[in-house]
Amino acid sequence: MLDVLRRVIQEVNTAKDLDSALDIIVDRIQSTMNTEVCSIYLLDESRKQYVFMATRGLNEALVGKVALEIDEGLVGLVGERAEPVNLHNAKKHPRYLHITDLREENFSSFLGVPIIHHRKVLGVLVVQQARRRRFIASEEAFLITLSAQLSGVIAHAKATGAFSLSGVVADLPASEFQGTSGAPGVVIGTCVVMYPKADLAKVPERKTTKIKSEVKLFRQAIEESRAEIRHMSDKLSDRLQPEELALFDAYLHMLDDSAITGEVIVQIELGIWSQTALRKVIESHVANFLAMEDPYLRERGSDVLDLGQRVLAKLQSRDEKRKTYPRGTILIGEDLTPGMLAEVPRGRLAGLVSVSGSGSSHVAILAKALGVPTVMGVEDLPIHLLEEKPMIVDGFEGLVITYPNKEQLRLYKTTIKQEAAFNEDLEVLKDEPSETIDGERIRLWVNTGLMTDVARSLDRGAEGVGLYRTEIHFMMNDRFPTEEEQRLIYRKHLKAFAPRPVTMRTLDIGGDKALSYFPIEEENPFLGWRGIRVTLDHPEIFLAQVRAMIRANEGIDAYLRIMLPMVSSTGEVDEAQRLISQCYREIVEEGVEVEMPDVGVMIEVPAAVYQARDIVRRVDFLSVGSNDLIQYMLAVDRNNAHVAELYQEFHPAVLHALKTVVDAAHIEKKPLGICGEMAGNPSAAILLMAMGYDVLSMNSSNLLMVRLAIRSFKMSKARAILAKVLTMDNAFLIKSYVEEEMVKAGLSQLVRMRH
Ligand code: PEP
Ligand code: MG
Repeated sequence: MLDVLRRVIQEVNTAKDLDSALDIIVDRIQSTMNTEVCSIYLLDESRKQYVFMATRGLNEALVGKVALEIDEGLVGLVGERAEPVNLHNAKKHPRYLHITDLREENFSSFLGVPIIHHRKVLGVLVVQQARRRRFIASEEAFLITLSAQLSGVIAHAKATGAFSLSGVVADLPASEFQGTSGAPGVVIGTCVVMYPKADLAKVPERKTTKIKSEVKLFRQAIEESRAEIRHMSDKLSDRLQPEELALFDAYLHMLDDSAITGEVIVQIELGIWSQTALRKVIESHVANFLAMEDPYLRERGSDVLDLGQRVLAKLQSRDEKRKTYPRGTILIGEDLTPGMLAEVPRGRLAGLVSVSGSGSSHVAILAKALGVPTVMGVEDLPIHLLEEKPMIVDGFEGLVITYPNKEQLRLYKTTIKQEAAFNEDLEVLKDEPSETIDGERIRLWVNTGLMTDVARSLDRGAEGVGLYRTEIHFMMNDRFPTEEEQRLIYRKHLKAFAPRPVTMRTLDIGGDKALSYFPIEEENPFLGWRGIRVTLDHPEIFLAQVRAMIRANEGIDAYLRIMLPMVSSTGEVDEAQRLISQCYREIVEEGVEVEMPDVGVMIEVPAAVYQARDIVRRVDFLSVGSNDLIQYMLAVDRNNAHVAELYQEFHPAVLHALKTVVDAAHIEKKPLGICGEMAGNPSAAILLMAMGYDVLSMNSSNLLMVRLAIRSFKMSKARAILAKVLTMDNAFLIKSYVEEEMVKAGLSQLVRMRH
């Protein structure tokens, strides 16, 4: 059975469109199950009808031409119940519906199973036979298994526009495609589809005898490509910080004689045509990257491919007609690369949408730095249908709307206007204190990573940095940065914020954050070698970083705090403390006059919640990493769109855990903050403030919204809300109760903007 399943799925996957896919399905099921009829009905949601889409055994002339209302017939019954209907005499069933000319009347037995994808019924798969009998359990199980496997393929085919090929739906209707947020913000614009400039995959096997001239030609292509990359880097230089621009240097290194160029020339000298040689070399590099488990490294494969295509385009001397980029360009592509961003003239790039990748892709990191709303990983996006078409990009929700209808446009235009007006209104709070109506002050700090975040944060009145994600700088490099390189960057950060506190987190790699030059390949990376586990195993990396942090403060006397990620035991804290003290002693012995920094621990693993008192006794402060804490407490991968709905900030277990940590820190009289995304959610911020969190650290774009929320409540009221919430047992109810209270406090706009 597994073999049959695998074969059918494989065949279906290679079908050119939805109609052929459905045709293959009905054909193979009919022959495998030896039934007389097999048909598929797909739900057309806009018309609320099941459309007869493919058949073996019924009247094929009616395919695409007849439909049942959603609540009609046995097909409708299967859809309603979302479970199989197995009948030995269908015609006797009260829901049986005769459709003229379908030629169904000869068949008595009926087995219909729903096709369900992500809880939604997409259609119904039916087998029928003349002989009166109930289909046996193994037949039912086979059909259910097949349907479950096919549902993803059918959903994809429907979404990518292939549904229109049946002639049933004239044009791709306005559709929403869910991806993940790459960079925040909402924009309405025009799609410009980025295809690779040249298609390496299509370069044929070819030999050459003109070795010298091929090498020369290739070298020219390399020189042109290098010049182009330098030019792109220059064009972006005033918009990006040096560490972000380092990405282009990495590209240039790849084109060195010691890397790709050298390898291609060796091939040409063996008598292989330059384009073929280039393809072979690039393909072998890309294959190596793609074979890696780690998503970050897989993405580097696409960087190499991008580079190869670029060189090929030069080699082919293809006179690419210049693409036009309208105002409000939304760049979309299967796999957007940082290089593609630079091709859009300044001021025209409004949004980015990538079919592959995630929020941690390079392109998303650059988009955040440039302030361009971005959605990543929109797997079903039909990009071939979108050139020059209007699109809405909702970078907050990770949502893309293609062919938006009037209603959606109106809604989002209003959102954009409201957001702009609201942001303008919020500006007045820049210099106001984050203080409740009854005079309790809460510290609002920011999370930073790129230097670009610094100016924006200061501009919004940030009172300190609660989380500086140092790994971002490591990720933009192609080797570990030296102690001195790190010192200079940390110094810039400290200087910019002095005398305000800056909390530098030690390198937090692993999980979904990988370094191309330090691969970590694991079955289960979020439960593996992450954060402090890596750096304690590599004290040389840890010591260099901590030394750089402490030395960076020389002569500035900023308030430096060092924070340890992913701690799950007191032993890790003791070991890290020992190394930090060693660094400090050495630095003082070297004659540098600096203060010993505060040291703190992130509480982001459930074990640390229950040992919060033991941990906080050893250090100066705690900060909750709610992003990870939620994923570990609720067993929900924070990057997995399939379980995104289960990732709940207001889950009662999460709230009680957060309260436990506050109590532990307060008993030990130590300060405590929270630096996960939750702190930047105004509704959650009210609860956190009531719990007693001293510091809420967030993305700078949320800062003024949270300040407004704090200024709209009395602490006593916030505490009353919290007290009630802590008696509730359902995340949805808690969320709506808190939001209701926000609305009552006049913050309906804040609540709306979070949706
Ligand atoms: C967290 O886990 O909440 C956190 C702030 O760290 P990161 O998101 O970088 O894992
Ligand atoms: Mg974390």
